[in-house]
Amino acid sequence: MNKRDCKTCDGSMKERRKTRTIFIGDIAIGGDNPVVVQSMCNTDTRDVSSTVAQIKRLEAVGCEVIRVAVPDMEAAQAITDIVKSISIPLIADIHFDWRLAVVSMEAGARGIRINPGNIGGREKLEKVVRVARERAVPIRVGVNSGSLEADIRKRHGGPTPEALVESAMRNIEYVCDMGWEEIKVSIKSSDVMDTIESYRLLSLRSDFPLHIGVTEAGGLIAGTVKSSVALGSLLIDGIGDTMRVSLTRDPEEEIAVAYEILRAARRRFRGPEIISCPTCGRTEIDLFSLAEEVERRARQIPHPIKLAVMGCVVNGPGEAREADIGLAGGKGIGIIFQGERVLEKVREEDLLERFWFHVERVLEEKFQQKKR
Ligand code: SF4
Repeated sequence: MNKRDCKTCDGSMKERRKTRTIFIGDIAIGGDNPVVVQSMCNTDTRDVSSTVAQIKRLEAVGCEVIRVAVPDMEAAQAITDIVKSISIPLIADIHFDWRLAVVSMEAGARGIRINPGNIGGREKLEKVVRVARERAVPIRVGVNSGSLEADIRKRHGGPTPEALVESAMRNIEYVCDMGWEEIKVSIKSSDVMDTIESYRLLSLRSDFPLHIGVTEAGGLIAGTVKSSVALGSLLIDGIGDTMRVSLTRDPEEEIAVAYEILRAARRRFRGPEIISCPTCGRTEIDLFSLAEEVERRARQIPHPIKLAVMGCVVNGPGEAREADIGLAGGKGIGIIFQGERVLEKVREEDLLERFWFHVERVLEEKFQQKKR
């Protein structure tokens, strides 16, 4: 949506910050490209079939780039078989051992995430960068408040935003000096305000694409709130080229939350927008289960469509007038409507399937039509 299409935006949202474009496999990151959504597997990378299965599930709900942990050589070698069975680019996440980075790239990783400060010194970093250059593999320079260089930490009195930015600039310079500028940068802190401040400072000093996220954000509620505040603020500021919401949950939920943040910040619109009421004393159907199942099914749909799941007919249809398809509960029944038009009245036990029938019908009408 651009500003002309938006009925409520007053134009105060900042333009996207200009960054260079890099490619992770065939996915463009930075420049004018859409903010790319990533996640990270929580399977054992050495377990190829579980890892592939999880990546496929994540891809189905909109994950565009996947990262896997590479704690040892067996995990690095497993990448060879993993990439044969997936269609989104894979990033290898490496700490401490430069050889794991080299083997991961040789095995087919399309990006690597390293902290140049903990990879074993300049000479070893050079070996990693040489292979990255030869194979055109971008490097994510990942600075983390927990693994800040001792001298920088001492000078700033701790992992302050200024300290994190100094570390990022130092590490960017290391890699660039070695002749490789396909870089994206992340600064991770578990503190929301520090995260926002750090990225704001960094975006003034560097035009490399930024990977944004809050590290160790927490479970579903805390993690969603922290990520929404931090990433939402940055996206509204025009900062961020790729993002990961990190939750102590199934990574599929990270993807769902990431797209909701992008939608709320009006940076990207993927999949259905679901309006649902909180329920009240008027609710006479099991709306929680209905809304949960609609949300679960909706994750598989990439097209933008507006769905409403409302507890009653008093306010339901009115509040959800702009929905493509909506439902409103009654006593043991539900009404399915399209805009203001009532389509049918069905028993509660049939409500979900009839509602979903109409969702699929509208999807076909809207998106088949566009293809012609
Ligand atoms: S839509 Fe109906 S049931 Fe839901 S909160 Fe509003 S009045 Fe209550």
